This record gives sequence, C-alpha cells and structure tokens, in this order.
Amino acid sequence: MLEWMGMYPDELKQALADMGEKPFRAGQLFSWLHRGACFSDMTNLPLNLREKLADRGVDQPVEVRDIRVSQLDGTRKFLFALRDGNCVEGVLMRYHYGATLCISTQVGCKMGCRFCASTLDGCVRNLTAAEMLGQVQCANRLLDGERVHNIVLMGSGEPMDNYDQVVRFLRLVSHPDGLNIGLRHISVSTCGLVPQMRAFAQEGLPVTLSLSLHAPNDGIRRQIMPIANRYTIDETLDACRYYIEKTGRRVVLEYALIDGVNADPACADELAKRLRGMQCHVNLIPLNTVKERNLYGVQESQVRAFLTALENRHISATRRREMGDDIEGACGQLRKKVMQEERA
Ligand code: SAH
Repeated sequence: MLEWMGMYPDELKQALADMGEKPFRAGQLFSWLHRGACFSDMTNLPLNLREKLADRGVDQPVEVRDIRVSQLDGTRKFLFALRDGNCVEGVLMRYHYGATLCISTQVGCKMGCRFCASTLDGCVRNLTAAEMLGQVQCANRLLDGERVHNIVLMGSGEPMDNYDQVVRFLRLVSHPDGLNIGLRHISVSTCGLVPQMRAFAQEGLPVTLSLSLHAPNDGIRRQIMPIANRYTIDETLDACRYYIEKTGRRVVLEYALIDGVNADPACADELAKRLRGMQCHVNLIPLNTVKERNLYGVQESQVRAFLTALENRHISATRRREMGDDIEGACGQLRKKVMQEERA
C-alpha cells in the first residue's frame, strides 16, 4: 500500500496522472492529507477518486493506541500504533512558547547505547516519512485548536540511520501547503553518525542539530556508546563544526550525567577544553536510571556543580527540564513497559 502522505507534491501529481486524474487534484489531496483528513473528509474530491485512492494507499498511517497524562506537569505520552502492528512512542510537552512534540524515527534502534531503553531489543524497522508526519497529526488532533509548534526527533530510533525518510519528513512537515512548521522549530538528535551528519549539513535544512555526546573523551564514550568505536569525538565534533559553518546554526550537545561515569567536575573541565571556541550549547540532564544496566542518574547538586564548572569556563550550558517523569516519559521506557506487559 502507498502512503499518500509521504509523497512530495510532484510525486502526487505523477501518481494521479498515472491514474488518469487531473493534475490539480494533487494540490487538493496534498492539503487534505497534511491537515490530517481521511478520504471520507475530502469532500471536494469526487467519490470515485477517493475510492481509487483508498484502494491504492492509506490516508492515516498512524493511530493513537494509548495516552498517559503526567500528574506532575500535564506532559502527555503517546503510544502510536503503526499499520503493521508495531508501535512507537511520542511525548507532547506544553511550554509557554508552544507545544513541543518528541517523535520516533525507527521502531527500536540499533545503536546500542548502554543507557537507552529504545535499543534494548534492537531495531525492528525504519519509520517512513508518512509515519513521522502521522505522529504530528495525532498530536494536533489531541491539541484541539492549538498546534504542535516545535518538533524534536528524540523518540526511539537514530535519525541519521534512517536518513532519506528523515530528510523527506523534514521537507514535507515544513512545506508551506502542508503543516508548515518552521525548520528552525525542529531539532534532530543523533548519537553521531559522522558521514550522515556531514551530508545533512549540505541539505539546506536549517534545523537544530543535537549531538548526544555524553562524554568528555573517547575512553568514557566507548564505555557507554558503541558508536564511539567507529568515530572519535574529534571527528564527531569536526562534523558539528562543519554543520555550524554550513548552516550558521549552533549545535546542541546533549550530556546525560551518569553517576560514577561522566559526572565528575574533572569531566566538565575536560569537556570545556574540547569545546572552546565552538558555537555550541550544552544540555545537561541527570540520566534516567536504567537498573538493568546498573547505570544511575546523579543528585541535583552534582548537576549544579557540573554546570558551574562549564560556566566558569565560558561554555554556554543549561540543565534541561525533565518532564513526564511519572509516565515513563523518557526514551523508550513506555514502549518497553507495554511490551513487557503484553508478553506477561
Ligand atoms: N538516536 C538519537 C535520538 C534519540 S535519543 C540520539 O542518540 O541522539 C534522545 C536523547 O535521549 C539522546 O540524547 C539520548 O542519548 C538520550 N537518552 C537515552 N536514554 C537516556 C536515559 N536513560 N537518560 C537520559 N537521556 C537518555
């Protein structure tokens, strides 16, 4: 089955032409699809065309299977069902500057970061661009009037490992006749696939690139992130510098503080030295504890100390707010829990 939503306007035009339809129908179809409409809503398309479309492809690639609402901050966690029975997670956070949605890019992940719940069962498959768009539309439906304003690709999956569909998603979600979400309101997070990061810098997509760095040196990084065996921190930060040069956008460096691993103030000093002169911002967050792996988060005082050490060395840094802590808000935790419940 085709996913109509994942097609560029030109491709829709061609597909409709192949079906013997008029080219102007493509524009109508594109705007309906990206408003989240089903075939039955598309009242300015003839019924027989809607039937043909439904025979060949799908209108809604994603459905909401479960929603949990945080009692702490109103953050909502979605479990999205895909048409093949797989499911992925998303998180909707309400900030004063608008609703931010975190979406998934793969079912599972093959990167194997030791602290991450999304990767425990490996990668099942890539999501399509349509399935990424479908997550945004599900959230918009729930927001009822308000719309998703910012998107972060920080759910399950490694975006740079699903490069083509991620780029397609970015172009479609920012299309003026579609959801028209500004690329400056989108963050793409990667564990550091260097060749793809360099290619991405040349796409002309001014999103915010986030690198999951999590370590001040290769030795520590290799303990927690297998990707560090493939690319050194130097190579990875060079790819970031290239991104900054090409896009004019500063890069965000994610750093999850893990007790006894990377949280020592000496690590902050070492990190600061590496980042000197780079147009970047460090996001600190205490690790969400992963008991299965014996990795634990840190006390607030340790976050403060690390932050102060960076600031003293003139590195721009903040402590990222954690939201939805009571609803398995983070990183594959809900999907894991639901899958475990289903197995039991
Ligand atoms: N694969 C991409 C995006 C998905 S993960 C990446 O690696 O960046 C989104 C962010 O959550 C990454 O920075 C990741 O390192 C972080 N993360 C994963 N597990 C975590 C945990 N248990 N606690 C805190 N952050 C975690």
